[in-house]
Amino acid sequence: MAGGIITVIITITTTLSFFLTSQPPKSYYHSLYISSSLSSNQSISNHLYILTRRPHLAGTEANAEAASHVLSTLITNHIKSHLSEYAVSLTYPNTRSLTLTHPPPKPPTTFSLQQVVYKDDPYADVADQVEPTFHAYAKSGTVTAPVAYVNYGRVEDYTTVEKSGVNISGCIVLARYGEIYRGDIVENAYAAGAVGVLIYTDRKDYGGGGGGTKWFPDEKWMPPSGVQVGSVFNGVGDPTTPGWASSMEGCERLSEEEVERGGDVPLIPSLPISGADGEEILRAIGGVVADEGWQGDQDAPVYRIGPGPGVIELSYKAKQVISTIQNVIGIIEGVEEPDRFVILGNHRDAWTFGAADPNSGTAALLEVAERFEKLRKEGWKSRRTIIFCNWDAEEYGLIGSTEWVEENREILSAKAVAYLNVDVAVAGAGFHASATPQLDQLIIEVTKQVQDPDNSSQTVHDSWVKTTKYTKIGRLGGGGSDYAAFVQHIGVPSTDISFGNGYPVYHSMYDDFVWMSKFGDPMFQRHVAAASIWGLVALKLADEEILPFNYSSYVNELQKSAKDLDAELSDKNINLIPLFKSIEKMKTAAEWINKEIKEMREKKGWAFMWKNQPWKLREINDRLMMAERALTDRDGLPGRPWNKHLIYAPSKHNDYGSKCFPGIDDAVKNANKFETKDSWRSVQHEIWRVARVITQASLVLHGELT
Ligand SMILES: [Zn+2]
Repeated sequence: MAGGIITVIITITTTLSFFLTSQPPKSYYHSLYISSSLSSNQSISNHLYILTRRPHLAGTEANAEAASHVLSTLITNHIKSHLSEYAVSLTYPNTRSLTLTHPPPKPPTTFSLQQVVYKDDPYADVADQVEPTFHAYAKSGTVTAPVAYVNYGRVEDYTTVEKSGVNISGCIVLARYGEIYRGDIVENAYAAGAVGVLIYTDRKDYGGGGGGTKWFPDEKWMPPSGVQVGSVFNGVGDPTTPGWASSMEGCERLSEEEVERGGDVPLIPSLPISGADGEEILRAIGGVVADEGWQGDQDAPVYRIGPGPGVIELSYKAKQVISTIQNVIGIIEGVEEPDRFVILGNHRDAWTFGAADPNSGTAALLEVAERFEKLRKEGWKSRRTIIFCNWDAEEYGLIGSTEWVEENREILSAKAVAYLNVDVAVAGAGFHASATPQLDQLIIEVTKQVQDPDNSSQTVHDSWVKTTKYTKIGRLGGGGSDYAAFVQHIGVPSTDISFGNGYPVYHSMYDDFVWMSKFGDPMFQRHVAAASIWGLVALKLADEEILPFNYSSYVNELQKSAKDLDAELSDKNINLIPLFKSIEKMKTAAEWINKEIKEMREKKGWAFMWKNQPWKLREINDRLMMAERALTDRDGLPGRPWNKHLIYAPSKHNDYGSKCFPGIDDAVKNANKFETKDSWRSVQHEIWRVARVITQASLVLHGELT
């Protein structure tokens, strides 16, 4: 449903007048890109409908079919495209069973572990193609033990359990989803001595709370039979090829034992279960009544910690295979700087139908490609190269993007200007963004130009400020999506955007087109807005003479984090001066380059510069591009060599959490635990390392040899 006739006429007349005079400026095309005459919610919803007709898990034929749709759409839009394939280790469920034994005389309960088809479900005919509920990379095995309840399964939850005098060792734990990454739930359980893990969806968190009795398809909430599946792998990329690509022509591969020794795959079995099954198990747990914060909604039974008297028998057997996965790569070659890349990425593989996660993003990606083609027909040519990436096997552990980045590491390190990720483009209302800080300002500026999809009288920026009081931008240290390899492994400036933040049917079989068109985005206008913001950020990065990066935001972020660290370590004998000094250097360098750019723009202008001193513009852009790379270190974080970025990485006990100065943070936690001279010396060492990369970044920004 594109814009009205009037907009179309205005567009045509302005285009004509430019055509008659001279080549319009890039800004003309950028405005045209976000105009209603070029966008189409109808085309986006069509793409989403096609992409989500069948469940399309990584490694399946259905996902290869979805790849063909993406590939052919890119090719139709005259984007030079190819498949980039890898042979990777994936797991699927082979057999599963779960039995709860109650104290006599109640007979045991054997759970069906089935998600049920809903009333008038248009996908009922393909429901048998939904993979049985499981955790990818879960350990195979059968365990029988009394069951204990551990809330969200965080480190602090185990501390609470211990304080209640309950011994978890040898138990099967029941944890609820919601606060941390599921792989960490399993790892924390293992560390506490548990022998198996069940993770359920509590209706307090995903069912609307308040004893709600309505759920999908009547309301947006997760049905009682709904199960959140997902990966429990704690690493990144193919577990059998850590740090190198899983090449199709054959490559070195770790054995199963070596992978287990690596410590990123679980060593105890686990299963995800529904809210209804979780509640049934909670009824069989006695012992100490859990705290208020651990309880369910008003109609839920009283949650107790246990262990027992209920006894669980959990059996899981995985099918481990080497599968072919397919990234789709599409390239619009830049005219003036073809060797500088602006990369847009989204994954395609889904646990089930994937309407929100991830194909709302795929539909938006295809919309961006279609609008770029319309711009080209109007005469637009990109200054830099734009690359579309549609990743595979993200759900298993960011595999498609990681293998590609590992394989192309040196080329990307030399040429990638920025990576722009969208995973779930739309799960509801409200704009959310995360970025490496030099891109904050660009995101803010772009949201001022795009109309709010839920209120046409204001911009996305207006509503963003209204809901969060200020333009809150998250950071990209977490392991939640495909930006991880770009930011954390090779140091490419990146962004990640979405509308809506979390949604109840996440990773269940109810994440389908019906849910999206009833609750996620009934008019598909949020999809349109997501494509507008995503594409406009890409266009500005691809076309502006000087890269729209501002390192002053980075400096502010570093200062804030350093002050927090200072407060945390105030009573320790730790010297933070090197860190503060390095940030001061970066501040001076950021001011210096900003001043250089400003003077050049005011005194000479970009047209003059490109004609007479193109090398000088190029040199400034290279400094802006490479400063982020300088924040990486060859050795990476202690014990996490793949994580090269010393400023951002996942928090150690929650992969979804982004941590600033992760190496220092790990060392401090360790020192607080052991309180030895050596452990505090490691803290000081990590501070020096961070100070050194920040100093490197400021030298790059400043651009002169010492
Ligand atoms: Zn996703």
